[in-house]
Amino acid sequence: MAVDLVHIRQLAERKEDENFRFRQFLKTRCSLDPDEIDRRVLETTRRVWAGIDCTTCANCCREIKPGFSEEELDRVARRLGMGRQQFIETYLESSDDGSRKLWRTRVTPCPFLKDNLCSIYEDRPAECSGYPYLYQPDFVFRTMGMIERTFTCPIVYEVMEELKKSLGFSKRR
Ligand code: SF4
Ligand code: SF4
Repeated sequence: MAVDLVHIRQLAERKEDENFRFRQFLKTRCSLDPDEIDRRVLETTRRVWAGIDCTTCANCCREIKPGFSEEELDRVARRLGMGRQQFIETYLESSDDGSRKLWRTRVTPCPFLKDNLCSIYEDRPAECSGYPYLYQPDFVFRTMGMIERTFTCPIVYEVMEELKKSLGFSKRR
């Protein structure tokens, strides 16, 4: 299915308050424990993702500045036939997220996005291969990030909508 990113952003804007109420529901009133919620998120994500072709979207590659660990940085520099310093100076800036020092791409869209595809796909960093992080555990503790991603990632938007239905969230205030 082709994705309409403008439409998704408009829908996400309309749903933002509701999504914050859903977040509250998950934390306080949902009868399922966090592991069961993760299982439901997994199932729902598989189903939704099967209907969305990321190669027609690539919006994450336009929106995020992926982080590179030291090892990832070396790996991609090698792939591009560049020295480490040359790679940093060409593409990256340092970024300190409080817990670890990372390197991030300096600009958006990502400089490695070519013709809507990742030109370093096999060596892309974990922040890219794991995106939009729906397959990671502890969904219930990561809902702030998910609400942000509803604006840019059609998969996250759809998964949130499906979960509201399947987890018994009432949209009425
Ligand atoms: S992960 Fe989301 S934002 Fe990225 S390409 Fe796929 S649908 Fe688009
Ligand atoms: S490295 Fe590849 S997957 Fe990651 S943001 Fe850039 S183009 Fe997208």
